[in-house]
Amino acid sequence: MLACAGIPAHAYDRSDGVQVQCVVERNGERRIVPEVWLGHGDAGDRHPELGGAAAVVRPDEYGWPVISFDRVTIKSIRENDPHMVDFIFYHECAHATDPTRDEIEANCEAYLELERLGMMNETLDRALAHSHRKMMRLPSRYGGSGAAFWDKTMACVNAHHAPAQQTTEADASAAPADTAAAAPAPP
Ligand SMILES: [Zn+2]
Repeated sequence: MLACAGIPAHAYDRSDGVQVQCVVERNGERRIVPEVWLGHGDAGDRHPELGGAAAVVRPDEYGWPVISFDRVTIKSIRENDPHMVDFIFYHECAHATDPTRDEIEANCEAYLELERLGMMNETLDRALAHSHRKMMRLPSRYGGSGAAFWDKTMACVNAHHAPAQQTTEADASAAPADTAAAAPAPP
């Protein structure tokens, strides 16, 4: 293998074979966010630097963001849900482009970005939901559990969808489908 841990790469290999870059802009200067892959991908060889996280964004010595991936964690995620790794890339890129985003907002932005790219559908949505929900316990900044993390993410996604879908019609004419479904069936 030519690739060595610690050498930054400048493109991410997405699950659909496309190479993409995370680009940030600060004070009018645009830079590609470097990626660092830690560990060797062997079970038990987990690089302790990420503390169990699949990826993190950290500033370099000049304050520019760097995305670090944990090979071991990413490998096991990729085996179960390759699309989830793309989601993680866009989640980290969302942190990199706007450091004020919290975990929910970064997840929300990753989901919306995959939608914009035409990389979301019902099957992929279900796989992402499953990958999140099976994480039992998470730090409170992620909502405390995978299920809560995903619910909060989807609440944010739906809030972003809503303004575009709303028309000038009165609210009364657009009763939510849930209300109709909950009504008792006619005799
Ligand atoms: Zn995050």
